[in-house]
Amino acid sequence: MTVRSIRSKAHWAAYLTVVTLAVGIFVAAWSARQDRLWGDMQDAAHEAAREVGLSTRTARNSVFMLQGVANGLFQQQGLALSKEHQAALAERLDIPGTTVLLPITRAAHHTARASVNNHSDSPAFSMAGPKTLADDEAGREKGREIEIALSLGPALIQAKATQSAAAAVYYLSGRGFHLIYPPASDDLQLFTPDMLARDPYRDSLVERNPGRAPVWSASYDDPKGNGLISTLAIPIDDADGQHRAIAAMDFQLDSLSQYVRRPALGIATAFILDDRDRVIAHPTMVGGASDKAPTLQQVAQRAGAAGDWSALRTAPANNRQELAADWALVYDIESTPWRYAMVVDRAQLRWAALRTMPLEAGALAALLLLLGYAEKRRREALVSLRRKAAEDVLQAAPAPVAVLRQADLSIVMANAALLRLFGDDGTTDAASARQSAHEQLHDLIKSLSSQEQIEAGRVSEMCLQRGDSTPFWVLVRCVPLVHEDEPGWLCSLTEVTALKQAQDQLETLATTDPLTGALNRRAIAVRGGVEVKRVDRTAASFSVLLLDIDHFKRVNDEHGHPSGDRVLQAVSRACQGALRELDVFGRWGGEEFVALLPDTGHDGAVAAAERLRVAIEALSVDDDAGRPIRTTVSIGVAVIVPAGDSLEALLSRADTALYVAKAAGRNRVCVAPAGNTPAEVVQAASAASMSADSDSGVSVGA
Ligand code: GH3
Ligand code: MG
Ligand code: MG
Repeated sequence: MTVRSIRSKAHWAAYLTVVTLAVGIFVAAWSARQDRLWGDMQDAAHEAAREVGLSTRTARNSVFMLQGVANGLFQQQGLALSKEHQAALAERLDIPGTTVLLPITRAAHHTARASVNNHSDSPAFSMAGPKTLADDEAGREKGREIEIALSLGPALIQAKATQSAAAAVYYLSGRGFHLIYPPASDDLQLFTPDMLARDPYRDSLVERNPGRAPVWSASYDDPKGNGLISTLAIPIDDADGQHRAIAAMDFQLDSLSQYVRRPALGIATAFILDDRDRVIAHPTMVGGASDKAPTLQQVAQRAGAAGDWSALRTAPANNRQELAADWALVYDIESTPWRYAMVVDRAQLRWAALRTMPLEAGALAALLLLLGYAEKRRREALVSLRRKAAEDVLQAAPAPVAVLRQADLSIVMANAALLRLFGDDGTTDAASARQSAHEQLHDLIKSLSSQEQIEAGRVSEMCLQRGDSTPFWVLVRCVPLVHEDEPGWLCSLTEVTALKQAQDQLETLATTDPLTGALNRRAIAVRGGVEVKRVDRTAASFSVLLLDIDHFKRVNDEHGHPSGDRVLQAVSRACQGALRELDVFGRWGGEEFVALLPDTGHDGAVAAAERLRVAIEALSVDDDAGRPIRTTVSIGVAVIVPAGDSLEALLSRADTALYVAKAAGRNRVCVAPAGNTPAEVVQAASAASMSADSDSGVSVGA
């Protein structure tokens, strides 16, 4: 394992530890916050359930009180209609002098009600039964019951007063009396036999309720218009333990809605459930608008619950229940068959908890951002470190190297070796070397990329210039690379100026004669071959001159070999001076020279030869002793015959003409007739030389 990988692992381990710790602390705080929120809601629900219990206990106490008063009245043996009661009854029924009146007609009821309604602080009274109260045993019984019923009036009013949720409080005798407070509309306050058959009353009867405790009925819509109600009923016995009547209170269930709409419940859904799968109080049930309590399932659906809430009916009280995605709690409401329930969607609870911790969430986000920023900075630092290392390597590299941006071919980095190459020797201005390098590299890369050589990574030889305009040769090789996220070129330069010079020297050595500096025989042959091909192609004219110094052996013999060499040099110089620039001159060997005259025909060649002859004749070279050496040459001229003539044939004809010139007395020019065989030339030349009269002059073949 390398040091770098260990370091990078340690760095990630540190990050991971910090993030894990921070996230762990945050999650713990979040979880605690959820617990706290849940706890607050639980407290609120518990308090609300307790208050519901208190409210219903008041109702229960009221009906107990009614029961107690009524039981007491039934146990008073001597109770009979007193004068006072008779008067009160007469007044209520508005029939003067009546001892007891049993309203037997509807009209009588109305009369009775009219009277009752004049005293709205009094209970309404109605009854049904025997038409008269005869003064017999039955009549006395009836009278006693009426007496008891009327005696309960103040207790009814008091019960209603102590329970604001009571829609009505009433006393219902098994023998046809109905006492109700507050008075209701006509028909509803009248006693009818089927009243006794109604479930809310029957459920309280001793057969169904042996313990004689108050019984809460199922919820139902109050016919008197008080919305959803439940009747709390309790049986009343006489002194013999015989069931005689029931006392009841209609409890408005809307009054419970205040307990399920507490702000402290937060996001919880609270409701009250009866023992018949009905939700009798729910935040959405308002103002008595509902005529029927929804079922538990309907409420769950309305709340969008994922799971089944039916467990709430049987779940143990005061314990948290897990219902799919919800948490739930139920409390039994004391002295009722009801349960107070609260359900919280856990996802909502999580969000609610999160909303209460903006500081913590902000701190976590800030920490993560900080870590992200630190990591970004670390990477940047690492990248710049690596870049610097790479640049340092390039800078320190002994080979000249430059990095160019591909987009504009500008130099983004050039190392010291490269600047030195372009003339920055540390003493002159580096900026100018850089400028010069920049411009030339720019042009160089541009030309390379236009030639598509750069793509192949090929090595190209180029001639560049240093700051002081000295040319130098380099081999350039460019490879693509990415520099600072941009495509670029890495170009390395290898200077080959010395090699190039050595190559040039070799070439010079191979093509020139070291003594005279003129071209050597090989170079002459090459250039001559090229000219012959050109003539073949263009049908231009072309001539050659073959020169041989006369009696040169004598020069060596009389003046010494070094003087002979100087004569050779002087003759070469004189010839080159007398020829045109495009003529080619070289040493054929010994004291023989050749001149190639492109685009030159017979006359031009003869003129040129004569010019050379005269120039050499005019030469004066002194030997070591200061004595002058006179030099002459004999020259053979040959003109090419277009189509098929070779350089060898041409030179051979010139040689023959030279031979003729020698034979004719030297220091003269002799021309070989074009296209003739060497033998014919000799003859023609011999004839010509014989016609010549002196040691100098021009002999022209016939
Ligand atoms: P001709 O007029 O018939 O040409 O007589 P020649 O003496 O010039 O002819 P020959 O061929 O007999 O002599 C050529 C001489 O040139 C012989 C040789 O010593 C001399 N020679 C050849 N190369 C050199 C050289 O490089 N330097 C010197 N000094 N002499 C050379
Ligand atoms: Mg010779
Ligand atoms: Mg000679």
